[in-house]
Amino acid sequence: MSIEQRIDAIEQRLHRACQRSGRAREDVQLIAVTKYVDIATTAQVLKHGIIHLGESRAQTAVPKWRALSAQSDEQHPSFRELPEASWHFIGSLQTNKVKDIIGKFQYIHSVDRLTLAQAIQDRAAKQSLQVKCFVQVNISGEDSKQGIEPSEVVHLLEHIRTMPNIEVIGLMTMAPFDDDAEQARPHFRQLKQLLDDLNRQAILPYPLTELSMGMSNDFEVAVEEGATWIRVGSDLVGKS
Ligand SMILES: *Cc1c(COP(=O)(O)O)cnc(C)c1O
Repeated sequence: MSIEQRIDAIEQRLHRACQRSGRAREDVQLIAVTKYVDIATTAQVLKHGIIHLGESRAQTAVPKWRALSAQSDEQHPSFRELPEASWHFIGSLQTNKVKDIIGKFQYIHSVDRLTLAQAIQDRAAKQSLQVKCFVQVNISGEDSKQGIEPSEVVHLLEHIRTMPNIEVIGLMTMAPFDDDAEQARPHFRQLKQLLDDLNRQAILPYPLTELSMGMSNDFEVAVEEGATWIRVGSDLVGKS
């Protein structure tokens, strides 16, 4: 299948999920997770108008950003006609890699500890930038999953709200992989409930509005449960 056909197939699945749940397509943002593919394939995704790109490793993401971004001095001439991307860091992030991605990635989905939040704050302040962040929550309690325990989110947010260069916009989670997407539903529902609870308690001076949840195998269920950002990799770009 071509990239175009893959995008069409994802859009159809997304439309049906929106219809089933009475949501508007514009209320859900599609992030193309391009971590599996090279710069040329990532450029194809952009060419087809998907501007939100998700990457999970700084080492491979930064060269891509340099080649593709109009904000980079090293943008490849053949990519000058492409729309400007929004870059989303979705993988687990070491504090010593923060300096490599601030100023390139507008969104970080994987804030799961105070030391990381502090590193983002320090670096963003140095560059006079605001970074949009999601707190990644380990809703399922699986050992292998990244993310903070649900019971510790309030504590983390109480610290982050004193950090002027971090704008927390919502919560992110990954459901345990299962061939049956329905198995993910309770996890997505719990993340939405946690978001609603945090807003009721007004932990931050403004409401959290965003839920980053759903991947290739389970994004329709995530949309039905209120996802505002879905992160789709293998079904959209293939795995190389
Ligand atoms: C790789 C990855 C995805 C995309 O997964 P697919 O199953 O390939 O769609 C989404 N979110 C995160 C955090 C990832 O690491």
